[in-house]
Amino acid sequence: MKLNRCAKEAMDDLEAFFIKANSELLARGAPPGEGARVVSWSLADDVIYVEIASEGPIRAHDALLRVKNGIGKELGKKHRMGVRKSSVDVYEIAFSVDYPPMEVVTIPFAASVSFNGTECTLRLENVDEVFLRENYIDRMISLIRDKTAGQHYMGKGEYWKEIWRSPRRETLYQNDPTEEMVERKWIKQGPTKGKWFLRPEITKLMRIMERIAIEEVLAPVGFQEVIASHVVPFDIWIKTGHMGGSPNEFYYVSEPATRDPSAWETFSDLVKITRKVPYEELGKCLSGPRAGICYAQCPVIYWSFTNETLADDSLPVLLFERTANSGRYESGGRHGMERVDEFHRIEPVYIGTKEQMLEIRENMLDRYKHVFNDILELEWRMARVTPFYMQQSGGFGLDDQGSNEEAEKSKGTIDFEAYMPYRGSREESEWLEFQNFSIVGDKYTRAFNIKSQTKELWSGCSGIGLERWSTAFLAQKGLSPDGWPAGFRERYGKMPPGLHLL
Ligand code: ATP
Ligand code: ZN
Ligand code: MG
Repeated sequence: MKLNRCAKEAMDDLEAFFIKANSELLARGAPPGEGARVVSWSLADDVIYVEIASEGPIRAHDALLRVKNGIGKELGKKHRMGVRKSSVDVYEIAFSVDYPPMEVVTIPFAASVSFNGTECTLRLENVDEVFLRENYIDRMISLIRDKTAGQHYMGKGEYWKEIWRSPRRETLYQNDPTEEMVERKWIKQGPTKGKWFLRPEITKLMRIMERIAIEEVLAPVGFQEVIASHVVPFDIWIKTGHMGGSPNEFYYVSEPATRDPSAWETFSDLVKITRKVPYEELGKCLSGPRAGICYAQCPVIYWSFTNETLADDSLPVLLFERTANSGRYESGGRHGMERVDEFHRIEPVYIGTKEQMLEIRENMLDRYKHVFNDILELEWRMARVTPFYMQQSGGFGLDDQGSNEEAEKSKGTIDFEAYMPYRGSREESEWLEFQNFSIVGDKYTRAFNIKSQTKELWSGCSGIGLERWSTAFLAQKGLSPDGWPAGFRERYGKMPPGLHLL
């Protein structure tokens, strides 16, 4: 700790301060005997060196801040003395993780991370005070726990447990519907990677799916529609955890650095002369990205309630959004119309008490079953899986796994999966996740400080993927309305005349 002056004359008072600190200042808030301790200290002119050890709840870096403030308080008046700046040469933290690492673990800011079984030693060097005050330390510890758990978990495959299965249905169709749609010119790939142009036949089908979701599930349960922006600033994703968890899947959005045409003149001229985009010049005219295209609608819906108090009599709040398209960079995972980079989802979000969330789950699962069993007549199943908010925030959900009974009663994600005959047998092929249903506990209500008058708020969301509903349906029933179940055929009505392309 660098002082504002030489402290030789205050030696006796410092001595007394440090003796008292161990029993008072650094013990405060900890069970007896579990406070932090100043192990040694020394003075050289205007610098005090301290060594602090802690095994209890008072973190060594908190203890340092307490000491720093304490010196100012106790000696400030008498000796006109205070600490200008503190820094840490070496900070060594030992803690245990749940799983021994299977590979080397590295994280930013760490001088080294080493293990002896499940005992981890994290070493930091030359750490400044902001770093300590902002509590990066605890987050570094969580990150190491998460990474070791992740290594363990990767080897095991995702958590998945079937909880319900529809009756088996006769296989009516065995082709990949995307291929047949391309042949029939219902869809056209592009104009950029992982996107499709949908022509009238399939557009109508997607719109009917959307209508069914709204009329048969959302309206009966009491959802109201909202419209959200589909440009999502990074601070929203910092709060939801997506920024750290899924940065490799975002489509990033940049604004012009300025709208002033003179700043863009060279760019425009180059385009006019070369008929090409001068990317280097473009780079000069843009700001770096500060936002991304909607990944899922719920973050912006939660954001809209930041610091709000919801009236008890308005609970549960039930909203859905269907205008913001989702953009995800799926890269090598892309397939057909079912795994694309731009898709159309309806996302219902529900906020209320825990009991209300469980009731919503019952109601919505009933309505979903009605749609998939009675209208679309799908062969499908439900499975409990690693919650999306753990996956997408880069966590691995180990806390939420294994305790299914508890999960059954409260939080978690249920995936809805459809059998895709073109992929092979029921037993061996991968079924398609066509939507999901989640209760996330207080994760997002806490992140956005959404309160009620009296009750603790939970929330959840459900992702209704229209491309997925449509391909699941077509993969089982084929493209010809004759093969479609009556309930769907009725709603679809006549096939649009479509386009006659020569
Ligand atoms: P997956 O495991 O298939 O990548 P996910 O866990 O990333 O899905 P969620 O973020 O939970 O998906 O999104 C919910 C719903 O959004 C999915 O059930 C699906 O209907 C739809 N969806 C997600 N990614 C895509 C995609 N690339 N193309 C089409 N629909 C998608
Ligand atoms: Zn969501
Ligand atoms: Mg995904």
